[in-house]
Amino acid sequence: MSEKPELTCRKCNIPFHYPLQRNWIGRNVLFFLPIRVFFCARCLISRQLWLTNTEYRKYKRVI
Ligand SMILES: [Zn+2]
Repeated sequence: MSEKPELTCRKCNIPFHYPLQRNWIGRNVLFFLPIRVFFCARCLISRQLWLTNTEYRKYKRVI
């Protein structure tokens, strides 16, 4: 079985450090949008990715 690729930050290209909860609006208003938030430890910024469950399954889980 081949290793799944890691989700990486588009700017610095290192794998994301950990997932974050979406903000209140994201969870309660835009919950139907397949947006996930991950924290990049190099940029020190949380990035929102448009990522459906199907897409996310192609990648290694960010823990
Ligand atoms: Zn980064």
